[in-house]
Amino acid sequence: SRQPADALVLFGITGDLAKKMLLPALYQLVRQDLLTVPVIGVGRSDWDDARLRDHARDCVAEQGAVDEDAFARFAALLSYVPVDYDDPATFTALAAKARPLGYLAHYIAVPPETYATIARRLAEAGLHDDARLIVEKPFGHDRASARDLQAELTAHFPEERLRRVDHFLGKSAVDNLLTIRLANPLLSAVLCREYVCSVQLTMAEDFDVADRGGFYDATGCLRDVVENHLLQTLVYFLMEAPRTGSAADLLDERTRTLRAIRTARAEDYVRGQYAGYQDVDDVAPGSTTETYAALILYADTARWSGVPIAIRAGKAMATTAIELIVELTRAIPGYHHTHGAQTAAPNLIRLRIGPDAGLSLTLLTQHGDDATRIDENTARLDFTQLTGDDTDAYRNVLHDALTGKTSRFVTMQMVDECWRITGPLLNTETKPLTYEPGSWGPSEAERLVPGGWHPLELP
Ligand code: NAP
Repeated sequence: SRQPADALVLFGITGDLAKKMLLPALYQLVRQDLLTVPVIGVGRSDWDDARLRDHARDCVAEQGAVDEDAFARFAALLSYVPVDYDDPATFTALAAKARPLGYLAHYIAVPPETYATIARRLAEAGLHDDARLIVEKPFGHDRASARDLQAELTAHFPEERLRRVDHFLGKSAVDNLLTIRLANPLLSAVLCREYVCSVQLTMAEDFDVADRGGFYDATGCLRDVVENHLLQTLVYFLMEAPRTGSAADLLDERTRTLRAIRTARAEDYVRGQYAGYQDVDDVAPGSTTETYAALILYADTARWSGVPIAIRAGKAMATTAIELIVELTRAIPGYHHTHGAQTAAPNLIRLRIGPDAGLSLTLLTQHGDDATRIDENTARLDFTQLTGDDTDAYRNVLHDALTGKTSRFVTMQMVDECWRITGPLLNTETKPLTYEPGSWGPSEAERLVPGGWHPLELP
């Protein structure tokens, strides 16, 4: 199951994700000499090799100057095979081309209703034995449907040859949440229930749902980014050190951490919808789908028990950023020799995941000669070498899909826990609160967090 793949078979190569992320990321891998095996694009569209290569070039050019040498190498690896999911014979043609190449990595980037059909067709064509199956998110739309999908996929591909993608796990700025805690007693000593009043994780997007109204209206913010990306990110912040450096122990510790997170409660949940959402193409009239979600979670671990963990995410927000803010307890009264004129502000540790990954600390100092006054200062470190960007994250995910490395994927146990945690919130049908595009969401979300949400560090 850790076998390096001799070819990548990419279902959905004509689609939106391939255009924005997968094709540019594959090109980057070729540039770095990390991809030298054939890439077979598969889809229902009536394309051929030349059409796919032209399309790939446009996608790469969209993201900046094209390195012609590298692109020529990429184009030489690309080919296209048309299929019809209702016609098994088209999979026989795919098998004739792919089977002789050796061990295959099938990457499935088509709408999720089709994952199971593809697994079945691959098996019928004998393309399942010497192969790994990598599926995009979402994995189910609740706990029961995820378990059903698991049964359908494992009928043909055993768990050790299955990979579930969450591209946030390809961001080294997410990995770093664990590293930075373990490597620095300065942080690990205070990142615990004794010193932390709240943890606040925000994923804001300043763009709206644009032309993806149909997809989004059936999904909503909670399923789109909270159940997967934000819970997986949070785990790296909450988890303890894995027992060893092995992938299996890392996956175990991540699973253990998710298990410790209590199931969310409806009373700790605020949903919003931006004004104008109802006018988007393919959004149902009177839709109650949330484009904003804010909630509080608790993790029953020795380190975090009782600390409120606030999560919020939304479309059409004031900015685009992912940031985790830790609010420390305020200093004890009499911490400085003032006799109390000014109350202390909290120390804040801000871990910026993207864009502009970094860390900032707010620290209090005396104001000049006046020991009765305090200044708040912010010190910042830039983590310029860390990946926070989505295309870079997909480059890592695709590389691991090819090499067989497991640690950046989501196991079935993790999927099961994530649906458990968010379960009670998934089918809320009350009307969401309206918020203005470009704002920070409905003001009611402020009451969820003791003292309110801290503003993000960078605009
Ligand atoms: P998409 O553009 O709607 O579809 C991808 C391709 O799948 C299409 O080009 C089409 O290719 C094929 N397809 C569409 N409808 C189909 C159907 N009913 N049956 C069989 N094939 C169908 O989707 P996408 O946005 O690229 O997303 C692909 C996967 O990645 C999904 O699971 C999605 O949840 C996930 N994902 C997407 C994004 C994103 O930003 N787009 C982000 C994260 C995850 P042919 O007609 O040529 O077969």
